[in-house]
Amino acid sequence: MNDMILLKQGEIILKGQNRRFFEDKLLANIRRRLKPFGGFRVYAAQSTVYIEPEAGCDMDGAFEAVQSVFGVVGVTRAMACEKDGDAIFETAKRYLGEELSEAGSFKVETKRSDKRFPMSSIALSQYVGGLLADAYPEVRVDVRAPDLTVHVEVRENAAYIHAGALPGAGGLPVGCNGSAVTLLSGGIDSPVSSYMIARRGIHLVPVHFFSFPYTSEQAREKVVSLARILTKYCGRLAVEVVPFTRIQEEIRAKCPEAYFTLIMRRFMMRISEQIAEMHGCGALVTGENLGQVASQTMEALRVTEDGLSLPVLRPLIGMDKSDIVALARRIGTFETSILPYEDCCTVFTPRHPRTRPRLEDVLEAERTLDYPALIGEAVQSKYTARLDG
Ligand code: ATP
Ligand code: MG
Repeated sequence: MNDMILLKQGEIILKGQNRRFFEDKLLANIRRRLKPFGGFRVYAAQSTVYIEPEAGCDMDGAFEAVQSVFGVVGVTRAMACEKDGDAIFETAKRYLGEELSEAGSFKVETKRSDKRFPMSSIALSQYVGGLLADAYPEVRVDVRAPDLTVHVEVRENAAYIHAGALPGAGGLPVGCNGSAVTLLSGGIDSPVSSYMIARRGIHLVPVHFFSFPYTSEQAREKVVSLARILTKYCGRLAVEVVPFTRIQEEIRAKCPEAYFTLIMRRFMMRISEQIAEMHGCGALVTGENLGQVASQTMEALRVTEDGLSLPVLRPLIGMDKSDIVALARRIGTFETSILPYEDCCTVFTPRHPRTRPRLEDVLEAERTLDYPALIGEAVQSKYTARLDG
């Protein structure tokens, strides 16, 4: 007996004329994500994606994988059968028999998108429910708060039986809204900001600044591990690792200590913008959050983004730390983020950072640095860690 997977499409269904484009992206993303689990037939109809396994597929693996594909709001395993009351009853008994005998109570709920089907939804629920009640006399019928709901969906090609959907990952299919560079540190915040922007259909190019030997090899490995966790949602990622030591040493040698972090941030943004241009990206993404640290006041953010031409997306800007942590746990990045390796930001942290910097003071403080040369050198020496997703 082979079951299959049904996915309910999310916001895509609001897309009107472009809908086909969004749906094709979604199907391509799903197919790629299913590859490790065997051969599947994947197609879309009526706001639903149907995933039918060929022989020998790993259905548990496939079911878990599709739960993190953006563009989907509900996922369920289901059994298809003929559109006929008795066939539906037999299938429900075979497919959900174990759940039924373990439940204290149940009901049948029918959705009928094939309007030519001769019975109304209520009539079909009553018919199948009646047969199941006779077959499982020890299980009560409870239409208000049953332990188990037997869902029957009568669609174009078949009827589908299942025990209810789990929530999908939401959002829009990755790649349907362009791409952006995301500044990925080893902290808690930037994996979450990356996730949030990817969820809006954006393909990400992660950039990581790395200050060997001030930060260890493990610190870089940690960021690659975080990116690997993100591939579960984002698909394949090419992490751009940018050596940052020389720039930090220059800043330390030539600038007033109070501005170290801010000037470093300005470099990160400029370098990221160059990499964004190389990849045709439309924005930069950071994990910045208003008021969390000295470099994240409104004045500091202004200094950080001065001179950029791309928009800076900061999806965490108004969130509480506790909410960010909860999301980090949910998406599975938290445990890796709290590993103890230093980030380059913590290496040269000023003792007394300016919390309300004035742009002209910062420009004066960095006057002696050769920005174009340092940026050019950093971009030239970057290397790419490719992660399949
Ligand atoms: P996170 O937890 O993401 O590190 P944070 O609260 O520690 O954030 P900062 O260290 O001030 O904040 O960094 C702010 C943002 O700058 C980060 O969210 C990230 O987007 C970017 N960033 C910081 N350090 C790096 C780095 N080494 N490489 C790439 N991006 C970085
Ligand atoms: Mg950090």
